[in-house]
Amino acid sequence: MTPDYDVAIIGGGIQGVGVAQAAAAAGYKVILFEQQQLASGTSSRSSKLIHGGLRYLESGQFGLVRKALLERALLLKLAPDLVRLVPFYIPIFPETIRRGWQIRAGLSLYAALGNFSRDVRFKKISPQAYPTLALKGTASLQAVYQYHDAQTDDRSLTMSVMQSAMQLGAELVCSAKVSSLESQKKRFVIGYEQQGRQLECQSRVVINASGPWVNEILALLNPVMPHLEMDLVQGTHLVLAEKAPDGVYYVEAPQDQRAVFVMPWQGKTLIGTTETAYSGDPEKTRPLQAEKDYLLAIYRHYFAGDETVVNSFSGLRVLPKMAHNFFHRPRDTVLYQHPDNTNLLTLYGGKLTGYRATAQQVMNKIRAALPDVQQKADTAKLMLSPVEQSLT
Ligand SMILES: Cc1cc2nc3c(=O)[nH]c(=O)nc-3n(C[C@H](O)[C@H](O)[C@H](O)COP(=O)(O)OP(=O)(O)OC[C@H]3O[C@@H](n4cnc5c(N)ncnc54)[C@H](O)[C@@H]3O)c2cc1C
Repeated sequence: MTPDYDVAIIGGGIQGVGVAQAAAAAGYKVILFEQQQLASGTSSRSSKLIHGGLRYLESGQFGLVRKALLERALLLKLAPDLVRLVPFYIPIFPETIRRGWQIRAGLSLYAALGNFSRDVRFKKISPQAYPTLALKGTASLQAVYQYHDAQTDDRSLTMSVMQSAMQLGAELVCSAKVSSLESQKKRFVIGYEQQGRQLECQSRVVINASGPWVNEILALLNPVMPHLEMDLVQGTHLVLAEKAPDGVYYVEAPQDQRAVFVMPWQGKTLIGTTETAYSGDPEKTRPLQAEKDYLLAIYRHYFAGDETVVNSFSGLRVLPKMAHNFFHRPRDTVLYQHPDNTNLLTLYGGKLTGYRATAQQVMNKIRAALPDVQQKADTAKLMLSPVEQSLT
């Protein structure tokens, strides 16, 4: 008997919906399971940047930065109502560790990796303009560099990619928690709970895009299969009452020299992020008092605005285990095709920005296991628009 679906995806975060869109565009029969709501995991708790990741140049991740800048350029075209360029400012004070020449070198490399397009050019701000910046202590500023990157609403972007997948025929099952996964000859049997009912379906290929829950999904497997060791790293953001700054300020934390963003967000000020080792149930991630104190101290160091915290949220990064500290770990997605059954692919980590390119890589890996079908669309050309009514 033919399985019900070609591709079943577990997880309705940006990576899962990206694969749903790519697989539906390729012409396959697709189903996506989300245990709560779309983007209820990490994909609504990020820094909301569609960026190359200037700071990843410090850890030599040039390939990641180049790929992300290409995807940024594409998303600016495909999703003009969801992704927009904003100015970024990097201030250099006497105590700043990353000196002006280093910032200039980094921004030049960033521009080169972005093919020197208009949107990746940078400049040094004239000292006459310092009083217009949101910063305090501008009298001691030694330099301020300005470049551009893009901002989005991560939840809205995720929903609009799923909308695009559904327009191509993908099915969304929400709220439906996958609770069993059995590998049979040439198919998987997927058990899930929806509204108190226990249901099941079959698929040729399974994509495990469950973010911080990936290894919990693999623990359901029958028969058992190996998995990669990973760390979960919590990142917290605070929303402050202060009105939105005129752009994103990329500042160095005085406590440990990490790069932190102070950004406009829904008319207010968003500051983040932290990097705190996390263990336990991904559902229970919450901002810690120490993280709030750390972020507020940074804000107070550079800004004089209203520090009242009106909201805060935490998300979990998935970083495959290695010796480097968290800041220097590679941030690209690791696609793990299970040696015991290559029709199961697990996505570890990755960036919001790179979801479309990652989905294409996934398609390249699974195509051999799928039937010949007629392609319906190309995700590099599909426009994305905000979702106006519920998808479920
Ligand atoms: C603090 C922080 C800041 C970041 N900032 C940026 C940024 O500015 N720009 C950028 O490009 N990237 C950023 N990232 C990275 C980016 O946010 C993540 O890589 C991305 O959101 C991960 O998406 P995902 O789909 O893999 O996981 P998730 O969004 O977590 O989605 C996984 C989904 O799987 C579902 N699920 C789990 N178990 C089951 C089950 N049994 N059945 C059904 N569904 C299940 C969950 O409910 C969840 O919705 C940031 C990450 C963090 C942590």
